[in-house]
Amino acid sequence: MKKMKFKNYKYKEPVPFTVYADIECMLKPIADKSNSLNTTLYQRHVPHTVAYYLQCNFDDSISKFRPYRGKDCVEWFMNQLKELAQVVEFYLKRIVPMESLNFKQRNEFYSAKICHVCEKPFTPQDAKHRDHCHFTGKYRGAAHQGV
Ligand SMILES: [Zn+2]
Repeated sequence: MKKMKFKNYKYKEPVPFTVYADIECMLKPIADKSNSLNTTLYQRHVPHTVAYYLQCNFDDSISKFRPYRGKDCVEWFMNQLKELAQVVEFYLKRIVPMESLNFKQRNEFYSAKICHVCEKPFTPQDAKHRDHCHFTGKYRGAAHQGV
């Protein structure tokens, strides 16, 4: 009997950034239906409004909603995506050092018998690692090294 097992533990953490976007179009009839395709074209989608929401999962002050209406909405959206890519790149390259553990976190780390990521026990040969968020520096728990 085959068993399925979850192994991609790195996917347990939410992605740091998500962009949700929508484009609204008008349907414009096409007068000249002749073309070289085997398809008859009746109407064309003409974009007129774009809106997107950038969701940041570690700092909601970075999240934002932006709508735009106009004939140049697709060009506007492409420029917005280029700007968002620069914002995301900044946070991906900036690694915030881990904050100092408080008394309770230190006790939990030294007494941890189970890895908080893979939920498997630590063996005496395992090196315990202080898993933390590289975007915020917040400690998450004791983990196997390299998970
Ligand atoms: Zn583990």
